[in-house]
Amino acid sequence: MVAQKSQLVISEDGAVTQAYQKYRLLKQEVEHWQQERGSDWLKMLTLAEAPPYLPIKDLPSDAIVELWQRLNSVAKVEMSDADLRNIWEQFRNGQDVNAMDEETATRFRMALSGVASLASQMANEKNVPAQGFGRTASDDPRECIVCPICGEVSNLAILTPPNGHRLMHCTSCGFEWSVKRVGCLSCGSDDSKQQIFLSNEGYPGIAMAVCQLCGYSLKEIDTREASVQDYLWEDIRSLPLNFATELWLSEQAKKDNQVH
Ligand SMILES: [Zn+2]
Ligand SMILES: [Zn+2]
Repeated sequence: MVAQKSQLVISEDGAVTQAYQKYRLLKQEVEHWQQERGSDWLKMLTLAEAPPYLPIKDLPSDAIVELWQRLNSVAKVEMSDADLRNIWEQFRNGQDVNAMDEETATRFRMALSGVASLASQMANEKNVPAQGFGRTASDDPRECIVCPICGEVSNLAILTPPNGHRLMHCTSCGFEWSVKRVGCLSCGSDDSKQQIFLSNEGYPGIAMAVCQLCGYSLKEIDTREASVQDYLWEDIRSLPLNFATELWLSEQAKKDNQVH
């Protein structure tokens, strides 16, 4: 069977290089912190008996604040520990923390993900079962896009060599788990004809798989075509594909309305 494909139209954006430089500096600081402090913090983490093994909101506050302050100093921004704790508490309680500017929000997310990835590392070392989680017929099919470690939803998949086996990659904690290779992970449809693949030549090896039944879209990076060092950055860098897909979906909806 030939998969349905379509090209997305995307305009160039010079701000990406600049954004990458900023991102790289922060990412390096996260890696330094993990090397220096990771083993101490790992001793403080406990995984639950069943997924999600360590939800983001249960991560140790002191670790979040410690890493966040290191990112602030890289960015030459001063914020008090009390302010950071306040924002973290609001986030934990499910309150809206959108009042942060974009760069503050980026450092906060990177601090969360830097600590969460310790939990993911621990889960990998302990070889915890990612299976058996939402895999029974009666369960919501969408559970397979929820990270078994941190409980966040992932919309990023990786196709691996040699056969294109599909893994979900959590952009919050970095954990990866196997999912079915064809069909929609949201509505559970196994009909590959209902999946359409949107791509753009500026992003080789990356496609947005859109389900025509439920409208769910998933970014797939085929590592047989694209070599990727950092999936979080790859996801950010290719955000224009997500935006173009939303536009494509809304245009499809308009066309459908005209037909009927
Ligand atoms: Zn996760
Ligand atoms: Zn679907």
